[in-house]
Amino acid sequence: MQSGSETKIRPAEAASLREAAEILRSGGLVAFPTETVYGLGADATDDAAVAGIFAAKDRPRFNPLIVHFTDTAAAAREAVFDARAEAVAGRFWPGPLTLVLPRRHDSRLSLLCSAGLDTQAVRVPAHTLAHDLLAETGRPLAAPSANASGRISPTRAAHVAESLAGRVPLILDGGDCAVGLESTVLDLSTEKPAILRPGAVTAEDLTDLLGPLTPPQSSSGAVKAPGMLSSHYAPTKPLRLHAESAAADEALLAFGPAAPSGAAVAVNLSPSGDLAEAAARLFSALRELDESAAAGIAAMTIPEQGLGIAINDRLRRAAAPREG
Ligand code: AMP
Ligand code: MG
Repeated sequence: MQSGSETKIRPAEAASLREAAEILRSGGLVAFPTETVYGLGADATDDAAVAGIFAAKDRPRFNPLIVHFTDTAAAAREAVFDARAEAVAGRFWPGPLTLVLPRRHDSRLSLLCSAGLDTQAVRVPAHTLAHDLLAETGRPLAAPSANASGRISPTRAAHVAESLAGRVPLILDGGDCAVGLESTVLDLSTEKPAILRPGAVTAEDLTDLLGPLTPPQSSSGAVKAPGMLSSHYAPTKPLRLHAESAAADEALLAFGPAAPSGAAVAVNLSPSGDLAEAAARLFSALRELDESAAAGIAAMTIPEQGLGIAINDRLRRAAAPREG
C-alpha cells in the first residue's frame, strides 16, 4: 500500500482474521501478534509481498526474514531438518524459538526471505491468533518485528500503529505479547549449533538436546545474523546501563525492590525481581521512558541469568552507539 493510506486496528475475531487472510493472499501486509512481539506478515511465497515488508520497515535487504508456519511438517517442506532440528522443534515448538536451517532446493519461499544466504530462518509460533491466521491464510508468512528497522519492537497493537501507520492496511490486536522479547535464534545450519540471538528459550534449555552451546557472538565479531547490528532496538534518547542512581533529568528503568528515587520519571520492570515479568514489560517501558521529557534513560542492572541474558542483550543494543 502507499505510505499515507489508512491503517485499521481490528480485534482478533473470526471476521478480522478472514479479512487479514484475504489481504495476505492478495499480496498485502498484515501486522499480527505472536507470543514474542508483533510481526509484520506477508505471504512468504510471493516476492512482491515480501519486498513490501522490506519497504514498509526500511529494512536493509541483507537482513533475512523469519518465516512462520502452522506446524513442523509445513516448515520441513521449505528447510532441511536434521535429527538435531527435529529434536529441538519437537521440544520447543510451537514457541519462541527460531531455527536457522539449510534452505531446501525445492523450497517455494521467496529468495528474498533468505537475503542471499543458503539458509532459512523458520518458526512455529505459539500464539493462538498467529496460528489461526497462518491456517486461515494457508501460506507460510514471513514476519519480522512490526517496527521501523532499528527501532524498538512492538509488544502491543498501538506500538505497531506508532511505527507503521499508513504503511500497513491492517493490524490485528491480540493485546500484550506474553514473552515480550524477540525469539531466540538458533543456528543449526552448521555442525556446531550457535545461538545468534538470545531469547526466552535459553542456552541452558537447549543444552541437554545439543550439548554446550557457543555463546552469542560479541557485536564486534563477523555478523552471522545480519540483523544483529550492535545498535538495534534503539530508543531515541541515550541509554545508560548499570545505573545505581538517576539524575533529576533522567528517566529510570528500574528492576527489583531497591529502586533509587530522584529520577524525573521511573518505570519498574518488576518490583519483585521477576525476569519473565521484566522481559514482557521491557519494550513498552523503553517506549514510555523514551516519550518522557527526560534527557536520557538510566537502566539498573538486570541479573545475567536465564531470561536476563536476553534482556541484557536488548539493553546493550539499545545503549550502543548508533550505526548509521
Ligand atoms: P526480526 O524478525 O526482525 O526479529 O529479525 C530476525 C532475526 O533473525 C534477525 O536478527 C536476522 O538477521 C536473523 N535471521 C533471519 N534469517 C536468518 C538466516 N537465514 N541466517 C541467520 N540469521 C537470520
Ligand atoms: Mg526486528
